Amino acid sequence: MSKPAEWSVEVSKQLYGLEHSNRGEYLTVDETGSLVLKVGEESIRIIDLMKKYGLETAYIRFLPAIKSAMRRVFETYKTLSQVHGYTGKFQPVFPMKVNPIPIVIDAIWKYGEEFNWGFNTGSIGEIKLLHKYLNKGSRLLIYDGVVSDNVLKLLMDFEKAGWNVIVDVESEHDLQVLSKYANIHVGLRVKPFYKPGGKWSHSAGLEGKFGLTINTLLKLIKEYKWLNERAILIHVHGGSQIYELKHIAAIFEEAKTLLNDLRNIGFENISIIDTGGGMAYPYHDSRKGTPESPNYTIVDYINLLIKKFKDAQPHPTLVFEGGRYIVASHRIVVAKVVDVRPYSTEYKPFENGNGARMVGIPDSIEGIKKILQYTRDIQSKIKGKTLTLTERERVEDIITHFREEIIVKLVEIIRSNPSSIEKIIDDPLIYKVLTSPSKRFIISLSLFADIPDAVLVNQYFQVTPIQKLDERPDVLAVLGDLTCDSMGELREFISDVEIETSINSWFNRMDFRINHLPKKYLKLGGIPLHLPGKDEDYYIAFLDTGAYQDPLAMKHNLIYGAPEIVIDLDDSGKPVIKVVKHGRKSYL
Ligand SMILES: *Cc1c(COP(=O)(O)O)cnc(C)c1O
Repeated sequence: MSKPAEWSVEVSKQLYGLEHSNRGEYLTVDETGSLVLKVGEESIRIIDLMKKYGLETAYIRFLPAIKSAMRRVFETYKTLSQVHGYTGKFQPVFPMKVNPIPIVIDAIWKYGEEFNWGFNTGSIGEIKLLHKYLNKGSRLLIYDGVVSDNVLKLLMDFEKAGWNVIVDVESEHDLQVLSKYANIHVGLRVKPFYKPGGKWSHSAGLEGKFGLTINTLLKLIKEYKWLNERAILIHVHGGSQIYELKHIAAIFEEAKTLLNDLRNIGFENISIIDTGGGMAYPYHDSRKGTPESPNYTIVDYINLLIKKFKDAQPHPTLVFEGGRYIVASHRIVVAKVVDVRPYSTEYKPFENGNGARMVGIPDSIEGIKKILQYTRDIQSKIKGKTLTLTERERVEDIITHFREEIIVKLVEIIRSNPSSIEKIIDDPLIYKVLTSPSKRFIISLSLFADIPDAVLVNQYFQVTPIQKLDERPDVLAVLGDLTCDSMGELREFISDVEIETSINSWFNRMDFRINHLPKKYLKLGGIPLHLPGKDEDYYIAFLDTGAYQDPLAMKHNLIYGAPEIVIDLDDSGKPVIKVVKHGRKSYL
């Protein structure tokens, strides 16, 4: 057997999720332990960009990531349609609400030309944003918002310019308005009966916000005779980030049943099936079937889609409406650590007359558990009491002393008998101390502005340092942002390292907390990071922030508007870097 690895770039790549089926294509670590973007033949160190442009906070927009996600989706369809003999067309559209900023829409337009990528819009503003492309081509434009004359007037311009416009209907109101615009094709948006679970499950079900119930649809069919003729699409959207394939399968099944049944009652023009969003992005790529880690890939998704609609005759055109999957990976938020604070009470050696060493820590796990319980009891006993300064210092010293000595003892026990680790971390109290944070790193960003979903829906974003990735981490740190809001903190970290590593490397250098255990899936209470050296600029990156975060950004504490480093390729495949400053180099 080969010797287990000491710390190496390979361990870091696994720890920080950089061996990844999507972003692994262009994000890696070089031999100096720096996070690099692979652009064509070149490698760009992210830390060099931050230093070169003198930035403490930045969004790095790597537009080729959008192109490669589009290509992956399209090529997957092409291959699998041949495998299954599917003759229906594939028609991707970009749902603009996922990221309507002009840089992104321009990229979708430009890279989408090859694949005829269309758009799904939900508001007047989104339609207006597309107006600059009106005469530059003709794509599919699905409108999915509330219908009005103002909306229809704008859409008629696209229709006249040769675009393929489809307006989804969700109510009688929509049909009344559409009665006046006989040229516009109609999609029937139907509420999925099935609720897929997850953070956006209220999108679906009979009480869901969107679409028609079947009894309303059947009633409207009788009253609006033209519907038969004009309806060409069925739309069933089950929500976003649907992380289990069986839920996707249920939505596809509903769509297929609707297609067959509606065709049977005379909707002969329905030839397009839009199965909505939901294609989940692997924010963590362990295929666990959890909100951050879907249990399927784009290949599974499209395979299922084609297999489902293969028995419908004739084969319908399939609309792919995933937006999160297309743009999530293109934006990386980078922020400098501007302060390092103790997380809680700070460890310091006892001084003379200040308690001295009261008791040694026992060698047995049972004994350690008793002490942990004891320190908890102290805290609950003094709850609500007012302590003098001396008393409070004393209590803080005792709690810290025990905590840190216990960790040292546990590490000793594990070192002397590594196979005991499973049993030791099985105890929730012990697991908690071994994976508790010891530092709070204040970083130059605002969760509310830069990754709002971390606050809004507790979304997991992969965090990684952009340097020192060849070194073992020093501590587990909670990340505090610059806002004065207690929700502006991030502490969850998934550790999932597959390679065999030395016992040394399991524990951080300074606080001896666990940062990983080989072949174990762990949730840590802090992020494994390095203590910045004196005068060292230490930066942290948040990956895959390209979907939804730009439009949802909040102005909490008036901290917002990070500068952007936009990276694209020129025609010869060479990187082109542009810096877009929003008036500030730093949030501080
Ligand atoms: C939001 C939305 C999408 C995007 O879904 P994702 O799974 O987040 O990409 C697709 N279709 C419709 C109708 C939407 O409202």
